[in-house]
Amino acid sequence: KNSKRKDWKETLYERKFSKDIKNMYLSKLFIPLLKENPSEAKIKSHQLMLRTGMIKQSSTGIYSWLPLGFKIMKKIEQIVREEQNKIGAQELLMPTIQSADIWKESGRYDDYGEEMLRIKDRQGKEMLYGPTNEELITEIFRASVKSYKSLPQLLYHIQWKFRDELRPRFGVMRCKEFFMKDAYSFDVSDQEARRSYNKMFFAYLNTFKRLGLTAIPMAADTGPIGGDLSHEFIILADTGESKIYSDKRIFEIDINKHNSEDNSIKDLRKKYDDFYAVTDDKFKKEDFEKKVKKENQLVTKGIEVGHIFYFGDKYSKPLNCTVDTKEGKKVDVKMGSYGIGVSRLVAAIIEAKFDDNIMRWPESVSPFDVAIIPSLQKKDKSNYLKAEKIYNFLIKNKIDVLFDDTDEHLSAKFKKFDLIGIPYQIILGSKSTDDKIEFKEINGKTDSLSLEEIKNKLLNKRNLN
Ligand code: ATP
Ligand code: MG
Repeated sequence: KNSKRKDWKETLYERKFSKDIKNMYLSKLFIPLLKENPSEAKIKSHQLMLRTGMIKQSSTGIYSWLPLGFKIMKKIEQIVREEQNKIGAQELLMPTIQSADIWKESGRYDDYGEEMLRIKDRQGKEMLYGPTNEELITEIFRASVKSYKSLPQLLYHIQWKFRDELRPRFGVMRCKEFFMKDAYSFDVSDQEARRSYNKMFFAYLNTFKRLGLTAIPMAADTGPIGGDLSHEFIILADTGESKIYSDKRIFEIDINKHNSEDNSIKDLRKKYDDFYAVTDDKFKKEDFEKKVKKENQLVTKGIEVGHIFYFGDKYSKPLNCTVDTKEGKKVDVKMGSYGIGVSRLVAAIIEAKFDDNIMRWPESVSPFDVAIIPSLQKKDKSNYLKAEKIYNFLIKNKIDVLFDDTDEHLSAKFKKFDLIGIPYQIILGSKSTDDKIEFKEINGKTDSLSLEEIKNKLLNKRNLN
C-alpha cells in the first residue's frame, strides 16, 4: 500500500524515475472499463466517468474515486492549490465533522435545513458533517487574531463536504459528498475586503484557464450565505443546470492583458461586470433586451464551477469576531468566502471537452501525458519490445506514459483511448518504422517523428502548463 502511494506522489509532484517501471502497463492497472453506457447515466460526463472506471457509486449521491478518476481530481486539486498560494492564501485543514454549537451561535443551524446531515455522538452531543465552513473558520480566527496588524488574512482548505441534496444527479456533478476548495478572507475594512475579493476573482480566472476552461464570472445572488457582492463562475455546457443570458463579447476578454496589481485586477473586474451576464435568478427580460444588442445576445446553459461571496460582518457579528483598528476602535471583521467544486470540475471538464465520442483531457490534468498503443495482435514480439523501449525511454525522461500492453485489435484500442482521452498517442502499427514513429494528437493531426522529437514535444507541452 505504501509503495503504491509513493509512486503516485512521485509522478504527480516530483515525476521522478519510478522504480517499478512496469506499473503503467495497462494490463496491470485497476481501470475497470465498461463496454456499454450504463443506463442510469443521463449525461456524457457521468456515462464516461463510469465507462472509463473513474468512479463507482457507493450509494445515492456518494461515490468512490477509482485510480484513474482520483489521479485526474488530484491534478485539478493541485492547480487550484497553486493558484491559491500565488495570491498569498494559506492552506490549512479543518475537519469534516463539526460541532452544532457554532452553527447555533451564528443562527444558521435552523436556517440551513435538511441539506445538513446532522449526527449525534455517543454522548448525545449534536454534530454535523460540514456543508461549508464559515462558522468554523471564524471560530479559529477569533481565538487568536485581535489586531488589524495581522490582517489581511486569506485561509483555505480542500476538503470533503456533505450536502444532503434533494435530487442528487448527473454523477459527481450534483452529489451529496463532494470535494471542495473553500477559502475565507478576513479584513479590517470594507475597502480592504473588496481588495481580497478581487484577488480571489483573479485567482479563479487563472485557475480555470489552466484547467483549459473559459469560465465567466457572472453577478449572482448571495442566497443563504448572505451579503451584497457575489460572482458565480460558469462554463458553457448544454447539460448545465443554470440557464445563462449574456453578451457574447464577454467571452473575448483576455485575462493575459492583466496582472496581479490591485488596479489591474480592478480594471479586469470592471470589464467583466460591464458586460451583461447573469443566470436565471438575476435575469430580467427588459434589462437583457435593453443592454445587449440582438446580435450579441447569447442564451445558453452552463455549469457553476465556482462561487465567491463578500458578506462583510454577517458571521463575524453574531460570532463576536472583532479586531482593534489602528485608531483603537473595535470592529467586526469583514469576511468573504470563495468556493471551487474540485470534484464537480472533473465532470465539468468532460462536458466542456467531449466531442464526437472523443474525449480530450487538457494536458494540465490528463491522467497521463501520452499513451503507447502498439499492435500486438499476433503476439507481435518485436512490436512489444519496441513499445517497451519507448516506454522506458519516456519514463526515464520523466514523462508519464501509459503502455497498452493488451493484445486487443488496434481498432478496439483506438475506441478505448478515444474515451479515456489521453491527449497524445504513440501508435506502433503499419505506419511506424524503426526511426519514424506515428505520433497522433487525439482527435487531431498525425506526425511522423523520431523518439527524441516526441520526447521534446511532450516536455514542451508540459512546460506550457
Ligand atoms: P449550487 O448552486 O450548484 O447548488 P452552491 O451555490 O450551493 O451550488 P457553493 O456553496 O457556492 O455551492 O459551493 C461552491 C462550489 O461547490 C460550487 O460552485 C460547485 O462547484 C460546488 N458544489 C456545490 N454543491 C455541489 C454538489 N452538490 N455536488 C458537487 N459539487 C457541488
Ligand atoms: Mg452557488
